[in-house]
Amino acid sequence: MLKDEDRIFKNLYNDLGPDILSAQKRGDWQNTNEIIKKGKDWIINEIKSSELRGRGGAGFPTGLKWSFAPKEIGSRPHYLVINADESEPGTCKDRDILRFEPHKLIEGCLLTAYAVNANKCYIYIRGEYFNEGNKLQEAINEAYEKKLIGLNACGSGWDFDIYIHYGAGAYICGEETALLESLEGKKGQPRLKPPFPALIGLYGCPTIINNVETIAVVPTILRRGAKWFASLGRPKNTGTKIYCISGNVNNPCNVEEEMGISLKDLIEKHAGGVVGGWDNLQAVIPGGSSMPLLPKNICETIKMDFDSLVEEKSGLGTAGIVVINKDQDIIKCMARIARFYKHESCGQCTPCREGSGWMWRMLERMAKGEASRDEVDMLMDVTKQIEGHTICAFGEGSAWPVQGLLRHFKKEVAKRNNFNPLINKGKKIPYLVDQHLLEK
Ligand code: SF4
Repeated sequence: MLKDEDRIFKNLYNDLGPDILSAQKRGDWQNTNEIIKKGKDWIINEIKSSELRGRGGAGFPTGLKWSFAPKEIGSRPHYLVINADESEPGTCKDRDILRFEPHKLIEGCLLTAYAVNANKCYIYIRGEYFNEGNKLQEAINEAYEKKLIGLNACGSGWDFDIYIHYGAGAYICGEETALLESLEGKKGQPRLKPPFPALIGLYGCPTIINNVETIAVVPTILRRGAKWFASLGRPKNTGTKIYCISGNVNNPCNVEEEMGISLKDLIEKHAGGVVGGWDNLQAVIPGGSSMPLLPKNICETIKMDFDSLVEEKSGLGTAGIVVINKDQDIIKCMARIARFYKHESCGQCTPCREGSGWMWRMLERMAKGEASRDEVDMLMDVTKQIEGHTICAFGEGSAWPVQGLLRHFKKEVAKRNNFNPLINKGKKIPYLVDQHLLEK
């Protein structure tokens, strides 16, 4: 369990107040000027040595990303953009940072912007987070009043402004290039990469885009040192993480814990256990709805970090943990997720636009017991034709949950649809009693 002194987000439950005086008592905005004086290279190297990886889902090394920004400001300004779109089902960690720890984010924005040569920062918040946006704006106003941001921020000689921009509710605007399109006032559709935003981003200018949680931990890392951060978790999976635990648990919650904590500990010790007891567990989605689910036997021992989950063919994603107990119809759950992705596809790529609808319709048939054996194979085939063949990672995000279902719950699908999963492909042989054949 994470020790209290190693906790970064001390006001995650709003016991201490989000205002600037309370934040300063917790250590925010202490000696910010001195950190800036250490220089851009020092800041970037410190973040590199901390091995901080992006907390928005992809887990890309943060310091490395910053180092892609041009070293000098040329004819075009640099921008910092914060992704606060947080639309991944099962995820609500950035929300609590925005409303309860806004000063950690604002200070992180200043330090990051300085390191990547940006004088302007846009925070893109999903439209539904209207109250959270208001709280953040109050905190930004406080920071301006205290001259912590604005002209000569913190007396550092660096000018820095922050603007909030609200999204209109599309999931795809959480994808970084779609977010930039939306910020520019266009339809939120992902761009082809390369070019990458670090060189050609917002308004065609060098832009660094990071998730809220990633930037909010930056000031503490720079203050306490990369070594301290890297001592938590394990190599390449360092530091702490806010886990969101929801679904069939007795006490749904957000909790900051050390990277690599076991999933069972998170559920049993922080979320009050599975409804109906641990033996009533059916599966867990470990990282937001786009990550493949894990069956109970894997949940017994799995560690919650990037690499451990990849080894089990899933992913940490946003660390939005959704617990599904045996009272739920697992095929229906996945059909519901597939429907979400069908609805949210931006429609630019054929495999994603058409495939997401195919997957949803097939899963609906499977949930009703109306699918044939061939359709199960075809469904897996459709997921493979989407994966890796689209402009953005939404394609994988829609295909992976379906693959997870077929990988771990094929027997359930077979039983519901009355065929034997072990019989050769193409031969429809009754499994229990094939009602369809009898009726025909
Ligand atoms: Fe749009 Fe889907 Fe293509 Fe992404 S993968 S660009 S969401 S159609």
